[in-house]
Amino acid sequence: MSDESQELGITESKSHKPGEWYAEVVQKANLADYAPMGGFIVTKPRGYALWEGIQDALDGWFKETGVDNVYFPMFIPESFLEREKDIVEGFDPEVAWVTQGGHEELEERLAVRPTSESIIAPFMADWTRSHRDLPLRINQWCSVVRWEATETKPFFRTKEFMWQEGHTAHASDEGAWDEVWTRLGQYEELYEDVLAIPVLRGKKPEHDKFPGADTTTTVEALMPDGKSVQGATSHNLGQSFAEAFDITFVDEDEEERTAYTTSWGLSWRALGALIMTHSDDQGLVLPPTIAPTQVVIVPIWQEDTKEDVLEYSENIADELEDAGFRVELDDRDERNPGFKFNEHELNGVPLRLEIGPYEVEDEEVTMVHRPDNEESVEDRDEIVESVDEHLDEIYDKLYETAEENLEENIREAHSPEDILGTIGKHGGYVKTPWCGDEACEEAIKEKIAAEIVMQPLEDVGGQSSGEVPEPEHDECGVCGDPADEIAYFAKSY
Ligand code: AMP
Repeated sequence: MSDESQELGITESKSHKPGEWYAEVVQKANLADYAPMGGFIVTKPRGYALWEGIQDALDGWFKETGVDNVYFPMFIPESFLEREKDIVEGFDPEVAWVTQGGHEELEERLAVRPTSESIIAPFMADWTRSHRDLPLRINQWCSVVRWEATETKPFFRTKEFMWQEGHTAHASDEGAWDEVWTRLGQYEELYEDVLAIPVLRGKKPEHDKFPGADTTTTVEALMPDGKSVQGATSHNLGQSFAEAFDITFVDEDEEERTAYTTSWGLSWRALGALIMTHSDDQGLVLPPTIAPTQVVIVPIWQEDTKEDVLEYSENIADELEDAGFRVELDDRDERNPGFKFNEHELNGVPLRLEIGPYEVEDEEVTMVHRPDNEESVEDRDEIVESVDEHLDEIYDKLYETAEENLEENIREAHSPEDILGTIGKHGGYVKTPWCGDEACEEAIKEKIAAEIVMQPLEDVGGQSSGEVPEPEHDECGVCGDPADEIAYFAKSY
């Protein structure tokens, strides 16, 4: 390898130093850079394109299911934030404040939104008069600021992060629950059908739910290093925000009633999970569903074959583009094919087509899968069909590897030693009966940096209920007291 390509390539190992490796992939694949302020990042075009891929998918699904986009100010007056006490308490340690505008001291401090319930709810109250105004469903794509105390990591945990936050109001508790499941289902679909990451559906324990929420539901993804990622959350806020902000409506029987609200959010942490799950020691690996470039064509020529090879390659590029694939023809003169291979590997292009004089002569194309270098030779005539099939195969490979990792790493334990030992040895999830006492989580957390990341949800006729199923053993895995819940312990991002 030349010095130049060594500098380009990844030097850290995913299995030995996942933290350093991740930081290197993010920077060398040109996704993001560190900003001058600690905990903030600069998202570069390649990184932003991935975020747009997520936006495109989710935004379409939201709109198909009755959601309109809006935009609210990034500042929230302190008095608004104080109207729902759990929000103030919950977010207080993480709020950034504006106290001055120009040279003037402000009369009232403004919070930089850590989440927008407190500024959106009063307007929802205004817009909700009668039952005919419900359900009300709005969403905004924006950034929020949370002055995170724990270590930050590009995309996974940053002080300012991009996300979408959906906010809805309903006439009934049932309507709110339907909403919670619709959004959790869409998050699950995004992970499983777009990002090639299987997830577990669950709820957060009582002491870890969103401030002010009745129930926080979550999708959790397991990273190859054995740590869990909270992929997105969908909250049933019950009536606490509606009561605090007077979201009431006149019902069909002319009675005034208080609405039920929900909120749900997915942040660019999903990109962290995407990068961490599939990428390897050669760099970024992306599923074709989200890759900004799905297919790269690398023509390989000598001076005497250049014209033929390029013409053949250009025709193929055109045909694939017309068929709707995102294609790049890398016909740069100043780079040799080896350099190009390395660069596109680093950038995570799922499928590489190699075209040299032999391919032209035999009317064929060589195809190489990014994740495992699997190579095959296909007929030129059937290029569209075979590219389609190969991209599907690549998606399936990535999904299956992630699914195997998840399935092999859910273990049961029935004593504190067993919980600690299992997480210490294997990482992953440890499923245990739980009495519901936060002290039991603390007892584990003190010894190993693992916590209850979720509780499974009971399945009622193919639909989640808000309830946690009863465990088969009825003694808490930590304290031995009677247990009627199940908890999943894991280390997490
Ligand atoms: P929450 O409003 O706390 O339920 O958070 C909504 C989603 O945002 C969560 O599911 C997290 O995945 C994500 N999230 C929370 N904090 C951060 C952060 N500091 N950086 C990136 N994503 C975050």
